[in-house]
Parts: sequence; C-alpha cells; structure tokens
Amino acid sequence: MDKENLFDLTGKVALITGASSGLGKHFAKTLSSYGAKTILAARRIERMESLQKELLNESIVVSLDVTSNKSVNKLREEIENSTGQLDILVNNAGISDPVKFKDISEESWLSVLETNLNGAFRVAKMATDIMLKNNDGGSIINIASILAERVGLNLSSYASAKAALVQLTKSMALELARSNIRVNALAPGYILTEINQDFFNTDEGKSYIGKIPMKRLGLESELDGALLLLASNTSSFMTGSVITVDGGHLVNPL
Ligand code: NAD
Repeated sequence: MDKENLFDLTGKVALITGASSGLGKHFAKTLSSYGAKTILAARRIERMESLQKELLNESIVVSLDVTSNKSVNKLREEIENSTGQLDILVNNAGISDPVKFKDISEESWLSVLETNLNGAFRVAKMATDIMLKNNDGGSIINIASILAERVGLNLSSYASAKAALVQLTKSMALELARSNIRVNALAPGYILTEINQDFFNTDEGKSYIGKIPMKRLGLESELDGALLLLASNTSSFMTGSVITVDGGHLVNPL
C-alpha cells in the first residue's frame, strides 16, 4: 500500500446528507480535499451553494429531505441522471429534541426517529440499490453517536434512534459484504460545532465537558482520520464496525 496515498479518494463519488452545516459540511470538505467528487444533499440549498465554492473538487448540490420518500427518490434520479456513480455515502443528517421522558410527546419521539433512523434507512437503501446496480462495491458510513451505547438525560428518542442505527449498520454489513459494500458507523462524542457552541459555554454545558476524560470537546477535524479510513480503500477489510471518537467519554468511570 502506498504510504502517501492511504486516504486517496480520487475518482470516487461521495454523497453527504445534512451537508449544509456542522459535521456534514466538514465531512464534505474533508472528502473533497482528498479527491472525491461530492454530492451535497440537505434542505438549505443556499448554504450548500456557498460551501460548494470552498470545495477543491467537483460537486453538485441537491435538495434533500430525508423524511420524504419523494425527495429521496428525486435524489436517486439526480444521481442516475448524472454519472450514475456512487462509491461513498455519509449518512449524516440528524436532529435531536432534548426533553424529559415524562414530558415527551409522541410527535417529538416520532420526528426524531423519522429523521435519525427512518431517514438514514431511506438514504442507505437508495444508495445500496445504486451500488448493487453498478456492481462496484461501496462504503456506507452511518453517523451514530456515543449515545447509541450509553444514555444521557432528556435524550431517550435520540439514544434509541442511534442505537437502532448501529444495529442497522451491522445488519446491512452482514448482508452486503458479498457485494463488497462495506457498512460501518462513526460514533462521535461531543464535537464542537456552530450550533452547540453556545450551549457548551453555559454552566450546564461545562459540566458535561467535565465528564469527558480528556476534559475538552472534540474538534470537527478530529473526526477526519476515522472518516477517511472508512471512506477509503484503506479499510477494505472493515465492515460492521463502529469507530468511536470521543476523548474517552465512553470509558468514563461508573
Ligand atoms: P447539525 O444540526 O449542524 O447538522 C445536521 C444536518 O442534518 C444539517 O445540515 C440539517 O439541515 C440536516 N438535516 C436535519 N434534518 C434533515 C432532513 N429531514 N433532511 C435532510 N437533512 C436534514 O448537527 P451536527 O452536530 O453537525 O450533526 C450531524 C450528525 O452528527 C447528526 O447525525 C448527529 O446526530 C451526529 N452527531 C453529532 C455530534 C456532535 O457533537 N455535534 C455528536 C454525535 C453525533
């Protein structure tokens, strides 16, 4: 294996959902800077058009609402009508709606499950269909969370959806291995992004940081190694794995 090119993605096409902000935006930049052509998919088109100008490689912007079958089918058509190629999916779109379990409404529960689990399923199924048709393998990276494994206050819907996403990852990995479609999950701990920085500056936010063994939040760039490993051929024998990047949060003492 060429040391210089371990993470090279030249010639590959990567779809990133939720690419309009936060981690998805960062993932798109990272994959693009390693040579991938990117398909940026989310609801806020203008934000992705401005991201597009920052990218080093070719990209297209597609409107996507993962809660809508119609929207996911439109994305499939867009991909099939362009080159038809799809090598990497970063299944990143996600929401949370923190609320105590005793106060949670069915509407809130369903909306988190609809985006984080059913939405991820819909996009993964669409990407799998294309990858199987192309018969050229692929890498699907589901963005889970450390809350798939442990629980936190007021996040029952989020933790349940992410735990199910990990089981989906492993089930898909098992069934798609023979087609060389690898399916893995990346489970970040608390990563500083534009939308959570205000929260982590509050006393409550600081007390969360105190529970992380490394006593700090992760940076978006600290997910790059795991992302590039899973996206590239360097992980050609990895499937069904969950890579945790959390500053030791999951191993904090009971
Ligand atoms: P974010 O809110 O900045 O990004 C979420 C993205 O998903 C946005 O682009 C949003 O528009 C998109 N999205 C939401 N609903 C959508 C829908 N119905 N259709 C299409 N796109 C939709 O948050 P983030 O922190 O960047 O989170 C990205 C992913 O990483 C999520 O799956 C989240 O659960 C996961 N995650 C984040 C952290 C963290 O600390 N930031 C930790 C663990 C896991």
